[in-house]
Amino acid sequence: MKDIRLVAFDWGGVILRICRSWAEGCAAARLPAHAETLTPEMKTKRKALAERYHVGEIDCDDFFRLASGLTGGLYTPSQVRTIHDAWLLAEYPGAAELIGELRAKSSAQTLLLSNTNESHWVRHLPKVGGAAGDFPAVMQLHHRLASHVLKMAKPGREIYLAAERQTGVRGEHVLFFDDLIENVEAARAVGWRAEQIDHLGDTAAQMRGHLRAYGVM
Ligand SMILES: [Mg+2]
Repeated sequence: MKDIRLVAFDWGGVILRICRSWAEGCAAARLPAHAETLTPEMKTKRKALAERYHVGEIDCDDFFRLASGLTGGLYTPSQVRTIHDAWLLAEYPGAAELIGELRAKSSAQTLLLSNTNESHWVRHLPKVGGAAGDFPAVMQLHHRLASHVLKMAKPGREIYLAAERQTGVRGEHVLFFDDLIENVEAARAVGWRAEQIDHLGDTAAQMRGHLRAYGVM
């Protein structure tokens, strides 16, 4: 029996199904995927730009404009925005129910720890007028930490330490789920228990299995 006092979740690829490539994003947005934008070089440049966006170094309009510029105008800033909005697909089946069950059955605190940006982040929040947001499952969590607000991102060590400070839980008592192995390994390096989730599989079932194995519920 491990003494887990905090269950921490990544968002994309764990609770929320998202696009994994520019081509997928274009398909979701019903825009053509130009071959010139699918090269490894373009992927590297987009990744570097997205990393600046995730730590709040540039805002949404900067990102849309700069990402459009990277494509040499093949996509306008407005089209980049359309792709960016379409990037978030749907909550995984059973994810919201699993969080609800965890809240009901366990006294552990719960946390969202996401590399994200302002325009994606607001999609979990209630809309003006009070209707649920587009992807509200994470509203059930006690704490929600976003990279663009903290101005730090996974797999950097600092964001994990910030999560410990926010919750008052020491690393040895944290169980963390993320689909990216570098984020899992970084969590383990600060003493967290961390498990990689396969984003192509049944993420809720994987997490339920781990929660049982760790004696959380
Ligand atoms: Mg992820």
